[in-house]
Amino acid sequence: MKIWNSHFECMEREELRKIQTDRLRETVERAYFNVPHYRSKMQEAGLGPECIRSVDDISRLPFTTKNDLRDTYPFGLFAVPMSEIVRLHASSGTTGKPTVVGYTRNDISTWSEVMARTLTAAGADRHDFIQIAYGYGLFTGGLGLHYGGEKIGASVIPVSGGNTSRQLQLMRDFGTTVLACTPSYALYLAEAIQESGIDRNELKLKAGVFGAEPWTENMRREIESKLRIKAIDIYGLSEVIGPGVASECMEQNGLHINEDHFYPEIIDPVTLQVLPEGSTGELVFTTITKEGLPLVRYRTRDLTRLSYGKCACGRTLVRMEKCLGRSDDMLIIRGVNLFPSQIETVLLEMSEIKPHYLIIVDRVNNLDTLELQVEVDEEFFQDKISQLQALRAKLQDNLENATGLSIKVTLVEPKTIERSEGKAKRVLDKRKY
Ligand SMILES: [Zn+2]
Repeated sequence: MKIWNSHFECMEREELRKIQTDRLRETVERAYFNVPHYRSKMQEAGLGPECIRSVDDISRLPFTTKNDLRDTYPFGLFAVPMSEIVRLHASSGTTGKPTVVGYTRNDISTWSEVMARTLTAAGADRHDFIQIAYGYGLFTGGLGLHYGGEKIGASVIPVSGGNTSRQLQLMRDFGTTVLACTPSYALYLAEAIQESGIDRNELKLKAGVFGAEPWTENMRREIESKLRIKAIDIYGLSEVIGPGVASECMEQNGLHINEDHFYPEIIDPVTLQVLPEGSTGELVFTTITKEGLPLVRYRTRDLTRLSYGKCACGRTLVRMEKCLGRSDDMLIIRGVNLFPSQIETVLLEMSEIKPHYLIIVDRVNNLDTLELQVEVDEEFFQDKISQLQALRAKLQDNLENATGLSIKVTLVEPKTIERSEGKAKRVLDKRKY
């Protein structure tokens, strides 16, 4: 099992905590003295940099959101003069201005380091050929992987996204061993390989690092069987650094967060309180080494939970679960937080059921009600009623175990639930009308 930087990736947690504390204090000072926006927010909260003595004090600091980046567009949150910024990236906003991020020379070096860890965790080294089919440009995907690939000494193929026939040609002729792209493009490439008539044995692919969009375990299994590779989940967001914030190891059981650079917390997205270890909630990051654009308690809106338990790979860095969805999608049912993705996970694990469903929320006599309509296989409708009842009971049990809520389940025939083009409508919340 290869580890790029075992000093930091396998550090005793107590020692790591000391380093995090030192780095957090430096970051808070840098933000306070160099960024007027942070200074005024801290002053409003009655805080000075001296109030933050260790990572235990982090919850006293105000949050940062995407709006803070928009309000200070383009460079208002930068903590160094522009003469020290060597790179700018930006993500296109769905509305209005893009989110701009800036890197100093040290930030680029940090980014290369965390990407080297990511690629090494996926089994890559200097003997590999890494085909980067993420987009290059203002998007952080392409160049993030690129610098990591060069750092480990691999042969980097900066093909960028699109042009599928060229992707296949290079993959075969150059002997690509590691593919980096979005999971949906990986599936697309897998199908293109089958259609092109290329014999899989002509390819040397062994692993893929996939991220930048949510994907399910089912999708992973499909990619792995079609491409005959190990599919590794990677996580990042440009505001924090780009790819390289967290990545899976060969255990594929959670993504190790590079905590010596990015300090994670899990909060309740409604009350904004920090949740106890093991709870599902919104992931918040404080960058503790970044110079150009330090982020203090940045709300990612991504939902997950953290596990500090030992990983078989030997790394001690905390693991985050594959992201469950966005906090913007969260429902509150009888005071319990519910994410549609929790229901979807249960459904995907039951082969008798199709992943076509609708969650209907209502309020009857001031009490929230929850109904799940879900399609089952045709054959079940030809079977005895008792089998349908047994399936419904099993599903209800599984849902209650996963969500803590009792959910009324209605099984319906295939193709009963309305299909939509684009993003499927999964929730009908009648309480809002
Ligand atoms: Zn691990």
